[in-house]
Amino acid sequence: MMYIKDQVKKLTPYKPGKTVDEVKKELGLSEIIKLASNENPFGCSEKVGQELTAHAMNYAIYPDGGGSVLRQALTEFYQLPGEQFILGNGSDEIIQIISRAMLDSSKNTVMAAPTFPQYKHNAVIEGAKVIEVPLIDGRHDLNKMASAVDQDTAVVWVCSPNNPTGVSISDQDLKHFIEQIPDHVVIVLDEAYFEYVTAADYYDALELIRKYPNLIVTRTFSKAYGLAGFRVGYGIAQPSLIQALEPVREPFNTNALAQLAAAAAIKDQSFIQHCREQNRNGIEKFERFCTEHNLGFFPTQGNFILVHFNKDANVMFEALMRKGIIARSGHALGYPESLRITIGTEEQVNKTLKAIEEII
Ligand code: PMP
Repeated sequence: MMYIKDQVKKLTPYKPGKTVDEVKKELGLSEIIKLASNENPFGCSEKVGQELTAHAMNYAIYPDGGGSVLRQALTEFYQLPGEQFILGNGSDEIIQIISRAMLDSSKNTVMAAPTFPQYKHNAVIEGAKVIEVPLIDGRHDLNKMASAVDQDTAVVWVCSPNNPTGVSISDQDLKHFIEQIPDHVVIVLDEAYFEYVTAADYYDALELIRKYPNLIVTRTFSKAYGLAGFRVGYGIAQPSLIQALEPVREPFNTNALAQLAAAAAIKDQSFIQHCREQNRNGIEKFERFCTEHNLGFFPTQGNFILVHFNKDANVMFEALMRKGIIARSGHALGYPESLRITIGTEEQVNKTLKAIEEII
Protein backbone atom coordinates (compact mmCIF):
# COMPACT_ATOMS: atom_id res chain seq x y z
CA MET A 1 0.00 0.00 0.00
CA MET A 2 1.39 3.42 -0.88
CA TYR A 3 2.26 5.77 1.95
CA ILE A 4 0.16 8.93 2.31
CA LYS A 5 0.67 11.26 5.26
CA ASP A 6 -2.13 10.74 7.82
CA GLN A 7 -2.98 14.43 7.83
CA VAL A 8 -3.35 14.45 4.03
CA LYS A 9 -5.70 11.46 4.12
CA LYS A 10 -8.03 13.48 6.33
CA LEU A 11 -8.23 16.44 3.95
CA THR A 12 -10.96 16.84 1.37
CA PRO A 13 -9.74 17.87 -2.08
CA TYR A 14 -10.84 21.20 -3.54
CA LYS A 15 -14.18 20.64 -5.23
CA PRO A 16 -14.75 23.04 -8.11
CA GLY A 17 -18.26 24.50 -8.35
CA LYS A 18 -20.38 23.96 -11.45
CA THR A 19 -19.22 25.89 -14.48
CA VAL A 20 -21.36 28.69 -15.88
CA ASP A 21 -22.11 26.53 -18.93
CA GLU A 22 -23.21 23.60 -16.77
CA VAL A 23 -25.59 25.79 -14.77
CA LYS A 24 -26.98 27.37 -17.96
CA LYS A 25 -27.70 23.96 -19.45
CA GLU A 26 -29.12 22.51 -16.25
CA LEU A 27 -31.51 25.39 -15.63
CA GLY A 28 -32.20 26.30 -19.24
CA LEU A 29 -31.01 29.87 -18.68
CA SER A 30 -29.39 31.98 -21.36
CA GLU A 31 -27.61 34.32 -18.97
CA ILE A 32 -25.75 33.64 -15.75
CA ILE A 33 -24.13 36.17 -13.44
CA LYS A 34 -21.31 34.51 -11.51
CA LEU A 35 -20.67 36.25 -8.23
CA ALA A 36 -19.10 33.36 -6.35
CA SER A 37 -15.34 33.83 -6.53
CA ASN A 38 -14.70 37.57 -6.08
CA GLU A 39 -13.41 38.01 -9.60
CA ASN A 40 -13.39 41.43 -11.25
CA PRO A 41 -16.66 41.97 -13.19
CA PHE A 42 -14.88 44.57 -15.36
CA GLY A 43 -12.24 42.10 -16.55
CA CYS A 44 -8.75 43.56 -16.73
CA SER A 45 -7.00 46.63 -18.09
CA GLU A 46 -7.03 46.84 -21.90
CA LYS A 47 -3.26 47.36 -21.63
CA VAL A 48 -2.92 43.66 -20.84
CA GLY A 49 -4.29 42.53 -24.19
CA GLN A 50 -2.22 45.15 -26.03
CA GLU A 51 0.97 44.01 -24.31
CA LEU A 52 0.33 40.32 -24.95
CA THR A 53 -0.37 40.81 -28.65
CA ALA A 54 2.63 43.15 -29.08
CA HIS A 55 5.06 40.46 -27.90
CA ALA A 56 5.78 37.48 -30.13
CA MET A 57 6.60 34.83 -27.57
CA ASN A 58 8.52 31.63 -28.00
CA TYR A 59 6.41 29.14 -26.08
CA ALA A 60 9.08 26.45 -26.41
CA ILE A 61 11.35 28.15 -23.90
CA TYR A 62 10.90 28.26 -20.14
CA PRO A 63 9.74 31.51 -18.60
CA ASP A 64 12.18 33.81 -16.85
CA GLY A 65 12.48 32.02 -13.49
CA GLY A 66 13.30 35.30 -11.76
CA GLY A 67 10.32 37.09 -13.32
CA SER A 68 12.54 40.09 -14.07
CA VAL A 69 10.02 42.11 -16.13
CA LEU A 70 7.30 41.75 -13.51
CA ARG A 71 9.78 42.30 -10.69
CA GLN A 72 10.89 45.53 -12.38
CA ALA A 73 7.26 46.66 -12.72
CA LEU A 74 6.70 45.95 -9.01
CA THR A 75 9.90 47.79 -8.14
CA GLU A 76 8.70 50.87 -10.05
CA PHE A 77 5.23 50.73 -8.60
CA TYR A 78 6.28 50.25 -4.97
CA GLN A 79 9.63 52.04 -5.10
CA LEU A 80 11.19 49.01 -3.41
CA PRO A 81 14.16 46.89 -4.54
CA GLY A 82 13.39 43.70 -6.48
CA GLU A 83 14.79 41.52 -3.68
CA GLN A 84 11.80 42.50 -1.54
CA PHE A 85 9.33 40.53 -3.69
CA ILE A 86 8.62 36.85 -4.08
CA LEU A 87 6.42 35.89 -7.05
CA GLY A 88 3.85 33.12 -6.90
CA ASN A 89 1.41 31.20 -9.06
CA GLY A 90 -1.35 33.15 -7.34
CA SER A 91 -1.00 34.27 -3.74
CA ASP A 92 -2.23 30.74 -2.99
CA GLU A 93 1.27 29.61 -3.87
CA ILE A 94 2.88 32.23 -1.62
CA ILE A 95 0.77 30.80 1.24
CA GLN A 96 1.99 27.32 0.31
CA ILE A 97 5.63 28.45 0.11
CA ILE A 98 5.46 30.09 3.55
CA SER A 99 3.87 26.96 4.99
CA ARG A 100 6.45 24.63 3.44
CA ALA A 101 9.35 26.77 4.62
CA MET A 102 8.16 27.48 8.14
CA LEU A 103 5.76 24.82 9.38
CA ASP A 104 6.25 21.24 10.52
CA SER A 105 4.94 18.95 13.26
CA SER A 106 7.00 20.71 15.95
CA LYS A 107 5.29 24.06 15.24
CA ASN A 108 1.92 25.66 15.65
CA THR A 109 0.28 28.39 13.61
CA VAL A 110 -2.37 30.91 14.64
CA MET A 111 -5.22 32.18 12.47
CA ALA A 112 -8.73 33.58 12.68
CA ALA A 113 -11.83 31.49 12.00
CA PRO A 114 -13.54 31.77 9.61
CA THR A 115 -10.87 33.08 7.29
CA PHE A 116 -9.32 32.13 3.95
CA PRO A 117 -9.13 28.30 4.16
CA GLN A 118 -5.76 27.85 2.46
CA TYR A 119 -3.80 28.85 5.59
CA LYS A 120 -5.23 25.92 7.53
CA HIS A 121 -5.13 23.56 4.55
CA ASN A 122 -1.40 24.08 4.01
CA ALA A 123 -0.60 24.03 7.73
CA VAL A 124 -2.36 20.68 8.07
CA ILE A 125 -0.39 19.24 5.15
CA GLU A 126 2.85 20.29 6.86
CA GLY A 127 1.72 18.63 10.08
CA ALA A 128 1.63 21.82 12.16
CA LYS A 129 -0.86 22.35 14.99
CA VAL A 130 -3.52 24.84 13.92
CA ILE A 131 -4.82 27.31 16.51
CA GLU A 132 -8.01 29.01 15.35
CA VAL A 133 -9.30 32.12 17.09
CA PRO A 134 -12.99 32.90 16.38
CA LEU A 135 -13.83 36.21 14.74
CA ILE A 136 -15.94 38.68 16.68
CA ASP A 137 -18.60 40.26 14.46
CA GLY A 138 -16.62 39.37 11.36
CA ARG A 139 -13.37 40.90 12.64
CA HIS A 140 -10.14 39.34 13.89
CA ASP A 141 -9.86 39.05 17.67
CA LEU A 142 -6.29 40.31 17.53
CA ASN A 143 -5.76 40.32 21.30
CA LYS A 144 -6.78 36.67 21.59
CA MET A 145 -4.65 35.82 18.56
CA ALA A 146 -1.63 37.50 20.16
CA SER A 147 -2.13 35.66 23.43
CA ALA A 148 -2.43 32.33 21.57
CA VAL A 149 1.16 32.75 20.35
CA ASP A 150 3.80 30.74 22.28
CA GLN A 151 7.40 29.63 21.80
CA ASP A 152 6.32 26.95 19.29
CA THR A 153 4.39 29.35 17.06
CA ALA A 154 6.03 29.85 13.67
CA VAL A 155 3.41 31.76 11.66
CA VAL A 156 0.42 33.99 12.42
CA TRP A 157 -2.05 34.69 9.59
CA VAL A 158 -3.98 37.94 9.35
CA CYS A 159 -6.38 38.53 6.49
CA SER A 160 -7.37 42.14 5.83
CA PRO A 161 -9.93 42.62 4.37
CA ASN A 162 -10.91 39.22 5.70
CA ASN A 163 -12.43 36.62 3.41
CA PRO A 164 -15.33 35.78 3.87
CA THR A 165 -16.47 38.73 6.02
CA GLY A 166 -14.83 41.64 4.16
CA VAL A 167 -13.91 43.37 7.41
CA SER A 168 -10.54 45.16 7.39
CA ILE A 169 -8.19 45.94 10.25
CA SER A 170 -7.43 49.48 11.39
CA ASP A 171 -3.97 51.02 11.56
CA GLN A 172 -4.11 51.30 15.31
CA ASP A 173 -5.30 47.72 15.89
CA LEU A 174 -2.77 46.20 13.52
CA LYS A 175 0.19 48.11 14.96
CA HIS A 176 -0.84 47.20 18.49
CA PHE A 177 -1.07 43.54 17.40
CA ILE A 178 2.30 43.41 15.67
CA GLU A 179 3.98 44.96 18.71
CA GLN A 180 2.76 42.02 20.79
CA ILE A 181 4.13 39.34 18.45
CA PRO A 182 7.63 38.06 19.30
CA ASP A 183 10.39 38.24 16.64
CA HIS A 184 10.57 34.47 16.08
CA VAL A 185 7.01 34.48 14.67
CA VAL A 186 6.35 35.42 11.06
CA ILE A 187 3.22 37.51 10.54
CA VAL A 188 1.53 36.97 7.17
CA LEU A 189 -0.75 39.83 6.23
CA ASP A 190 -2.94 38.62 3.37
CA GLU A 191 -4.17 41.63 1.41
CA ALA A 192 -5.73 39.91 -1.59
CA TYR A 193 -8.39 42.65 -1.67
CA PHE A 194 -6.07 45.56 -0.86
CA GLU A 195 -6.84 47.55 -4.03
CA TYR A 196 -10.52 47.79 -3.06
CA VAL A 197 -9.94 49.28 0.38
CA THR A 198 -11.34 52.78 0.97
CA ALA A 199 -11.35 52.81 4.81
CA ALA A 200 -9.81 55.98 6.18
CA ASP A 201 -8.28 54.17 9.17
CA TYR A 202 -6.48 51.55 7.04
CA TYR A 203 -2.78 51.04 7.73
CA ASP A 204 0.18 51.56 5.39
CA ALA A 205 1.57 48.05 4.81
CA LEU A 206 4.81 49.36 3.29
CA GLU A 207 5.58 51.39 6.39
CA LEU A 208 5.07 48.24 8.47
CA ILE A 209 7.32 46.17 6.21
CA ARG A 210 10.11 48.73 6.68
CA LYS A 211 9.75 48.45 10.43
CA TYR A 212 9.16 44.71 11.01
CA PRO A 213 11.54 42.08 9.57
CA ASN A 214 9.08 39.30 10.54
CA LEU A 215 6.19 40.67 8.44
CA ILE A 216 5.26 39.50 4.94
CA VAL A 217 2.39 41.04 2.99
CA THR A 218 0.73 39.02 0.22
CA ARG A 219 -1.14 40.60 -2.67
CA THR A 220 -2.55 39.30 -5.93
CA PHE A 221 -3.37 40.08 -9.56
CA SER A 222 -6.48 37.88 -9.30
CA LYS A 223 -8.90 40.41 -7.82
CA ALA A 224 -8.86 44.12 -8.73
CA TYR A 225 -6.35 43.54 -11.55
CA GLY A 226 -8.76 41.02 -13.09
CA LEU A 227 -6.15 38.38 -13.95
CA ALA A 228 -7.36 35.40 -11.90
CA GLY A 229 -6.99 33.12 -14.93
CA PHE A 230 -3.28 33.87 -15.18
CA ARG A 231 -2.48 33.03 -11.53
CA VAL A 232 -0.05 35.67 -10.28
CA GLY A 233 0.42 36.78 -6.69
CA TYR A 234 3.37 38.07 -4.71
CA GLY A 235 4.79 38.59 -1.26
CA ILE A 236 6.50 41.77 -0.05
CA ALA A 237 8.90 41.67 2.89
CA GLN A 238 12.40 42.65 3.95
CA PRO A 239 15.08 40.89 1.84
CA SER A 240 16.09 38.46 4.61
CA LEU A 241 12.57 37.02 4.85
CA ILE A 242 12.22 36.77 1.06
CA GLN A 243 15.62 35.00 0.87
CA ALA A 244 14.47 32.49 3.49
CA LEU A 245 11.46 31.55 1.33
CA GLU A 246 13.10 31.50 -2.12
CA PRO A 247 14.58 27.95 -1.87
CA VAL A 248 11.03 26.59 -1.56
CA ARG A 249 9.73 28.33 -4.68
CA GLU A 250 9.53 26.20 -7.83
CA PRO A 251 12.02 27.55 -10.40
CA PHE A 252 9.40 28.42 -13.05
CA ASN A 253 6.36 28.96 -10.88
CA THR A 254 4.92 31.95 -12.73
CA ASN A 255 4.41 31.42 -16.45
CA ALA A 256 5.67 33.68 -19.22
CA LEU A 257 2.29 35.08 -20.31
CA ALA A 258 1.23 35.71 -16.72
CA GLN A 259 4.40 37.64 -15.94
CA LEU A 260 3.89 39.88 -18.96
CA ALA A 261 0.19 40.39 -18.26
CA ALA A 262 0.76 41.32 -14.62
CA ALA A 263 3.57 43.73 -15.49
CA ALA A 264 1.25 45.53 -17.93
CA ALA A 265 -1.67 45.50 -15.50
CA ILE A 266 0.13 47.19 -12.62
CA LYS A 267 1.04 50.11 -14.90
CA ASP A 268 -2.64 50.97 -15.42
CA GLN A 269 -3.69 52.41 -12.09
CA SER A 270 -6.59 54.37 -13.60
CA PHE A 271 -8.28 51.02 -14.29
CA ILE A 272 -7.81 50.05 -10.64
CA GLN A 273 -9.20 53.38 -9.48
CA HIS A 274 -12.25 52.93 -11.71
CA CYS A 275 -12.86 49.43 -10.33
CA ARG A 276 -12.44 50.63 -6.74
CA GLU A 277 -15.01 53.41 -7.27
CA GLN A 278 -17.52 51.16 -9.02
CA ASN A 279 -17.07 48.57 -6.29
CA ARG A 280 -17.69 51.14 -3.57
CA ASN A 281 -20.89 52.30 -5.32
CA GLY A 282 -22.04 48.69 -5.51
CA ILE A 283 -21.30 48.12 -1.82
CA GLU A 284 -23.25 51.22 -0.83
CA LYS A 285 -26.22 50.04 -2.87
CA PHE A 286 -26.05 46.60 -1.24
CA GLU A 287 -25.76 48.09 2.24
CA ARG A 288 -28.75 50.39 1.69
CA PHE A 289 -30.76 47.46 0.37
CA CYS A 290 -29.85 45.26 3.33
CA THR A 291 -30.74 47.96 5.83
CA GLU A 292 -34.08 48.62 4.10
CA HIS A 293 -34.89 44.90 4.05
CA ASN A 294 -33.69 44.10 7.56
CA LEU A 295 -30.88 41.85 6.38
CA GLY A 296 -27.68 41.74 8.43
CA PHE A 297 -24.29 42.20 6.78
CA PHE A 298 -20.69 42.90 7.70
CA PRO A 299 -19.15 46.24 6.69
CA THR A 300 -16.95 45.17 3.79
CA GLN A 301 -13.74 46.59 2.35
CA GLY A 302 -13.44 43.83 -0.25
CA ASN A 303 -15.23 43.29 -3.57
CA PHE A 304 -17.83 41.06 -1.92
CA ILE A 305 -20.37 41.26 0.86
CA LEU A 306 -21.51 38.62 3.35
CA VAL A 307 -25.27 39.00 3.72
CA HIS A 308 -27.18 37.25 6.50
CA PHE A 309 -30.57 35.96 5.36
CA ASN A 310 -31.74 34.24 8.56
CA LYS A 311 -32.53 31.11 6.60
CA ASP A 312 -30.53 28.15 5.38
CA ALA A 313 -27.85 29.47 3.02
CA ASN A 314 -28.29 26.58 0.60
CA VAL A 315 -31.98 27.35 0.16
CA MET A 316 -31.15 30.97 -0.62
CA PHE A 317 -28.28 29.90 -2.88
CA GLU A 318 -30.53 27.57 -4.91
CA ALA A 319 -33.28 30.17 -5.22
CA LEU A 320 -30.81 32.77 -6.52
CA MET A 321 -29.24 30.27 -8.90
CA ARG A 322 -32.63 29.52 -10.44
CA LYS A 323 -32.76 33.23 -11.23
CA GLY A 324 -29.37 33.03 -12.93
CA ILE A 325 -27.19 34.36 -10.13
CA ILE A 326 -24.45 32.23 -8.63
CA ALA A 327 -23.34 33.42 -5.19
CA ARG A 328 -21.31 31.49 -2.60
CA SER A 329 -23.24 29.62 0.07
CA GLY A 330 -22.06 30.46 3.56
CA HIS A 331 -22.24 26.82 4.65
CA ALA A 332 -18.66 26.06 3.73
CA LEU A 333 -17.57 29.50 4.92
CA GLY A 334 -18.71 29.15 8.53
CA TYR A 335 -21.89 31.21 8.08
CA PRO A 336 -24.68 28.71 7.37
CA GLU A 337 -27.36 31.41 7.03
CA SER A 338 -25.40 33.83 4.83
CA LEU A 339 -24.30 34.20 1.24
CA ARG A 340 -21.04 35.75 0.12
CA ILE A 341 -21.83 37.77 -2.99
CA THR A 342 -19.23 39.40 -5.24
CA ILE A 343 -20.01 43.03 -6.09
CA GLY A 344 -20.73 43.01 -9.83
CA THR A 345 -21.17 45.81 -12.36
CA GLU A 346 -23.98 48.28 -11.69
CA GLU A 347 -26.32 46.25 -13.89
CA GLN A 348 -25.35 43.02 -12.16
CA VAL A 349 -25.84 44.58 -8.71
CA ASN A 350 -29.32 45.81 -9.74
CA LYS A 351 -30.29 42.39 -11.08
CA THR A 352 -28.97 40.67 -7.96
CA LEU A 353 -30.84 42.95 -5.58
CA LYS A 354 -34.04 42.58 -7.61
CA ALA A 355 -33.67 38.79 -7.51
CA ILE A 356 -33.06 38.82 -3.74
CA GLU A 357 -36.10 41.05 -3.24
CA GLU A 358 -38.26 38.60 -5.15
CA ILE A 359 -37.03 35.70 -3.01
CA ILE A 360 -37.08 37.05 0.56
N1 PMP B 1 -6.18 35.27 -0.08
C1 PMP B 1 -7.48 35.54 -0.01
C2 PMP B 1 -8.01 36.25 1.19
C3 PMP B 1 -8.34 35.18 -1.07
O1 PMP B 1 -9.64 35.45 -0.98
C4 PMP B 1 -7.79 34.54 -2.20
C5 PMP B 1 -8.64 34.13 -3.37
N2 PMP B 1 -9.91 33.80 -3.16
C6 PMP B 1 -6.43 34.27 -2.20
C7 PMP B 1 -5.64 34.66 -1.14
C8 PMP B 1 -5.76 33.54 -3.32
O2 PMP B 1 -5.83 34.25 -4.48
P1 PMP B 1 -4.87 33.97 -5.70
O3 PMP B 1 -4.20 32.65 -5.46
O4 PMP B 1 -5.75 33.96 -6.88
O5 PMP B 1 -3.88 35.09 -5.69
